[in-house]
Amino acid sequence: MSESTPKAPYTTNNAGIPVESDENSLSVGPDGPILLQDHYLIEKMAQFNRERVPERVVHAKGSGAYGVFEVTNDVSQFTKADLFQPGRRTEMLARFSTVAGEFGSPDTWRDPRGFALKFYTEQGNYDLVGNNTPVFFVRDTIKFQDFIRSQKRHPATGLRSNDMQWDFWTLSPESAHQVTWLMGDRGIPKSFRHMNGYGSHTYMWVNAAGERFWVKYHFKTDQGIDYLSQADADELAGSDADHHRRDLHESIESGNAPTWSLKVQIMPFEDAADYRFNPFDLTKVWPHGDYPLIDVGRMTLNKNPDNFFIHIEQAAFEPSNMVPGIGPSPDKMLLGRLFSYPDTHRYRIGPNYAQLPPNRPHSPVHSYAKDGPMRYVASNAAMPYAPNSYGGPAADVLRFGDPAGWAAAGEMVREAYTKRREDDDWGQAGTQVRKVLDDAQRDRLVSNVSGHLLQGVSRPVLDRALQYWRNIDKNVGDRIAGKVNGG
Ligand code: NDP
Repeated sequence: MSESTPKAPYTTNNAGIPVESDENSLSVGPDGPILLQDHYLIEKMAQFNRERVPERVVHAKGSGAYGVFEVTNDVSQFTKADLFQPGRRTEMLARFSTVAGEFGSPDTWRDPRGFALKFYTEQGNYDLVGNNTPVFFVRDTIKFQDFIRSQKRHPATGLRSNDMQWDFWTLSPESAHQVTWLMGDRGIPKSFRHMNGYGSHTYMWVNAAGERFWVKYHFKTDQGIDYLSQADADELAGSDADHHRRDLHESIESGNAPTWSLKVQIMPFEDAADYRFNPFDLTKVWPHGDYPLIDVGRMTLNKNPDNFFIHIEQAAFEPSNMVPGIGPSPDKMLLGRLFSYPDTHRYRIGPNYAQLPPNRPHSPVHSYAKDGPMRYVASNAAMPYAPNSYGGPAADVLRFGDPAGWAAAGEMVREAYTKRREDDDWGQAGTQVRKVLDDAQRDRLVSNVSGHLLQGVSRPVLDRALQYWRNIDKNVGDRIAGKVNGG
């Protein structure tokens, strides 16, 4: 070693005590049994056994980065939310993911992609936990668990099963719009940088005067939409399973920070009552012609996390994090997620997950929450209860104006949403096939679907799948049937 080479630090155990060896455990003679008093050895083994937190049940494989959101247009007439006020610049975190694959699964499997955002606003964290698609497979949260199990692995074989997937889809016609989307070009994005993000759900915005609006979020990629062919995606799944993770990291590292332009559709509160589609049904979009896109701002991802596990694996997004000026809607999928996300974080990372670096608000926390496993920041409430006489925090209903909410009344029922003039499960999927796709895109859709159906889908599921596509579009359905039946 030359004299100018800096000396590496000496190894310590987790208590900072110098260890005696990195290479040899303590034993009775070189050939003898190892000793229980080798605390460092035991600490290493025990730590190793606990290195993982359970992977997410959905969205396990992902990647993310920090960045900034800048407002470029004045939408204060629609919301008083701090982060959307003119001129605001808000630090943020984004995590992109596949949905059904496990932690080590290939990035290029056909699947929707998660598009989860956390904005560190002046009034606490705002989490917008969306996807790269404006719609979803089911409209009621009671079906979500069934849906995901049908996309995961077969209980007997441990294999993924196209038969299970089509069985569930064809028995759940509300999936048609999202399945059409999934089987098209956008079902395998070229990279995370080349896809749009959608809040997907309908949310409520409230302005400073207390006026209410329904809103849908669209983050349009400034890199342009691009996709992988099925053949290229299959090849990459073997040659570079982390292709999308690598692309995001390397782009940011090389100074090529990806950006997205946020636009919103705004529906006046009263319009919801008789709009031609149920505006809270997650399987439907609001056509742009009815509610045009309005510019809001730009999101830039410019900082890679310096530790993947801490910042991305432990990132905990929760749609229940809504700040003043933003609220939920009667979307039954959204309402289920308000419970489900924080619940999964408590299980997966522990009840004090909100104290971890990616989850910690950048604004002050004056919560009465206390103690529990791994808590290391004390509550700053002098007394552990409210109300108290010692200057503890007190809820201030007036400070932030009207909360987002709506009136509801009625009998308790288990029913789907009330039907509107144009509500049916096939309509918007058919519009997409006929109006949005061009001939080449339709050809690829037919090829993708028939290729998928030919891999292990058995009768009667197969017959139902062919009818499913004829219901979406007779012509496309006939073409798929022709290919599946050897045409
Ligand atoms: P529009 O003609 O107003 O919108 C069509 C939209 O379709 C485009 O703006 C684009 O959305 C999206 N699109 C373009 N190519 C594809 C593709 N290959 N796969 C999926 N989406 C694509 O019609 P409507 O608003 O009436 O919507 C028609 C259909 O378009 C819908 O049924 C829905 O499937 C799809 N769509 C609609 C969106 C909406 O919010 N209205 C958003 C995305 C898709 P974008 O600009 O977001 O890329």
